[in-house]
Amino acid sequence: MDFNLSGLTPGPAGESGEIPVKVLILGSGPAGLSAALYAARADLNPVVLSGMELGGQVSLTYAVENYPGFPEGVGGTELVELFQKQAERFGAKVEFDTAVEVDLSRRPFRVRTYNATYLVETLIVTTGATARHLNVPGEVELTGRGVSYCATCDGWFFKDKDVVVVGGGDSALEEGIFITRYARSVTIVHRRDTLRAGVILARRAETNPKIKFIWNSAVTEIIGNEAVRAVRLKDLVSGEECDQPTDGIFIFIGHTPNTQLFKGQLEMDSLGFLVTDNLTRTNVEGVFAAGEAADPHFRQVVTSAGMGAAAAMQAGRFLDEMSG
Ligand code: NAP
Repeated sequence: MDFNLSGLTPGPAGESGEIPVKVLILGSGPAGLSAALYAARADLNPVVLSGMELGGQVSLTYAVENYPGFPEGVGGTELVELFQKQAERFGAKVEFDTAVEVDLSRRPFRVRTYNATYLVETLIVTTGATARHLNVPGEVELTGRGVSYCATCDGWFFKDKDVVVVGGGDSALEEGIFITRYARSVTIVHRRDTLRAGVILARRAETNPKIKFIWNSAVTEIIGNEAVRAVRLKDLVSGEECDQPTDGIFIFIGHTPNTQLFKGQLEMDSLGFLVTDNLTRTNVEGVFAAGEAADPHFRQVVTSAGMGAAAAMQAGRFLDEMSG
């Protein structure tokens, strides 16, 4: 990943040491970097705070095959680098930093990070989402010792090994298919008897000779000392339990939005997704939200990028209205 080291230096601080910005974007995934591109081209000098993972979830994706303009597909990391480069070409600044506290009670909003405090005229929240955990015994203890949430990061460690993948959605199948490059076998454990994933991925997985499915089953425990040795499965129809030997377990059971920072300030639904109107506006004037933090439905690179662009256009309009 090409971190922009020049971006590590904060912009000119005001007398109080606070940095004034017209548009601050929290998050550097497709939504954040698309917002940065549009805001930069509108001469709004946006600053992007990368968050802990530059590029967000897509940067951990081996191949993106459904982003228009790349008929042969494109690597997730490569796509993020292209997004960043394009935004920076028009003057966006990407800082390797994370917001730790926000005060949205009045404008300019105050956003404190590890390195600085920003005084913000408009805020675009694109903080994305984080992989959900199973919350079963052994999961925390064995994370990094056979428990993984990222096939691109860890698939290589399972060369010629047997692996379990949990989930029945597009992520589980896409990542499960990816792991077959390395693993001897991939067993997909799903809690129902029908997949949530789309038909193309489902067909690819079902016809892959290395993949088999265990239906109507839940992982109730991950077993092992130094490394994963087995998973305990419960048949949800018969109630019977059995241990399935495995060298690793990849968990792809959806995501939780990264919105805890805004609790009590921005309206969110019961799952924590930010509530916006169809113009990306949150309940606080001057604060917009885009991408997975505000999108429980589509969660695609292309839809997140579109929402990010829309949020930047709205931020520009809001600033125009404020300045009369
Ligand atoms: P998802 O569609 O929400 O699927 C999550 C899967 O995990 C579901 O099958 C769900 O079971 C299962 N699950 C949830 N909680 C569980 C638990 N506690 N224990 C066991 N299983 C559990 O999530 P996703 O696969 O990450 O996909 C997210 C979005 O990204 C979707 O819109 C998807 O289409 C999109 N996506 C697209 C692509 C692509 O187009 N190539 C690739 C990846 C993701 P149930 O089915 O029973 O609910």
